[in-house]
Amino acid sequence: MLIHLGIVSRLDEKQHKLYVSQRQSLFNFLEKVPITSTYKKERLIQVLSKNYLYNKAKKPFFIMEKDILLASSVPRSSEKISQIVGISKTVGRRYIRRLLAEKKVKKLVDGNNKDVQRIVKYVINIDLVKSAYALLGEHAIAPNLVTKKIKAIEDIPNSEFVYDITNSAERPAFILQNNVVVHNSTRHEILQKLLSRKYISGIKSIEPNQIAFAVIDSLEKHCNIVTDPKMTSELEIEMDEVANGKNTKQKVVGSSRTMLHTVLDQLLQNKLSISFELKKALTTQDVMGICPNDQGNLVLRKAGATGKRFLGCANFPTCRTTFPLPQKGSLSPTNKTCSICQKAPIVKLSGSKFKMEICVNMDCPSKDAWKKEQADKAARLAANPPPTPVSPPSLSSKPKPTKTPKPIPKV
Ligand SMILES: [Zn+2]
Ligand SMILES: [Zn+2]
Repeated sequence: MLIHLGIVSRLDEKQHKLYVSQRQSLFNFLEKVPITSTYKKERLIQVLSKNYLYNKAKKPFFIMEKDILLASSVPRSSEKISQIVGISKTVGRRYIRRLLAEKKVKKLVDGNNKDVQRIVKYVINIDLVKSAYALLGEHAIAPNLVTKKIKAIEDIPNSEFVYDITNSAERPAFILQNNVVVHNSTRHEILQKLLSRKYISGIKSIEPNQIAFAVIDSLEKHCNIVTDPKMTSELEIEMDEVANGKNTKQKVVGSSRTMLHTVLDQLLQNKLSISFELKKALTTQDVMGICPNDQGNLVLRKAGATGKRFLGCANFPTCRTTFPLPQKGSLSPTNKTCSICQKAPIVKLSGSKFKMEICVNMDCPSKDAWKKEQADKAARLAANPPPTPVSPPSLSSKPKPTKTPKPIPKV
């Protein structure tokens, strides 16, 4: 989307940061992408002016360029421009060449060296007020650069990425399609919170867990004020009113208090049903499949002594069926039974760099190739051990205990 505006960028999905590369991209970004917070825009430009890296050196590039562009408001020779700006002729020429290549200045030639002496002059070719340069070192911002203040909350149909940089103090959040409230400074925090509460899982592609649906379902049923996006938007409207003097802080705090009391009353009234529904969801979230022995639920468990996870039958101790599990990656059920061994459930295993569906049965023929690979690897290592550093013999050195292979719970 941004590339159509001439902005070369990369979105770091992990950090929710947008990296804009190349100088011209930065300018396009500053000019074309609305940033409603003038304070943030000013700060951004200040940082860029001070720290912009050019040829591995920090140079106040934008400020210097703006001075040159101002000096060329009437046609002037490069020498004259350099003199006005207070830089050497060589440096001045270098800047002018760059501005010329970017079509920000125009070259005018007077004379032909035969009859009249040839003089090359440079004149500004862009509207400085409409450019990002207008912001440099100035407090007043050209009206066309303060763009698109969000006046109302609305649905924006957009299937592409949305670069939410509308970090306006007046209207911090807006609603995207499907009523998802997005705000850039809180988004990362929200995701982190959702992850830590296990409402979502996955790293690159995030998926909601059973418990997330259960929380929403339960709240919608018992306390729908909380799930209604109206609550947030009404609060924001009230905040705005405080900001522009149409409402008082006391009144808004008072009405928020009343609203929260209503929410708490509703939640307390329905405490039992909510906790029952959430518990049910938490248990089903851990169910990874059906026990081949007695059709009980196979539930995610942790071994008390080692802390290692495995699948165990919910009918323990009557049924002692267990399956070992890989210890890394997040697990989710697939509701599929392995078509090869026709016995064990298939679970989805996903990590930051992998995503696969595996049969949990270690004796399943589907694991033969993998087992052979592991055995080959071990054999290769045994035949060709990696060099070990030679340590000087010491009297006190004790032989290191050898690692015993991890026990695998039996089926
Ligand atoms: Zn069982
Ligand atoms: Zn299998």
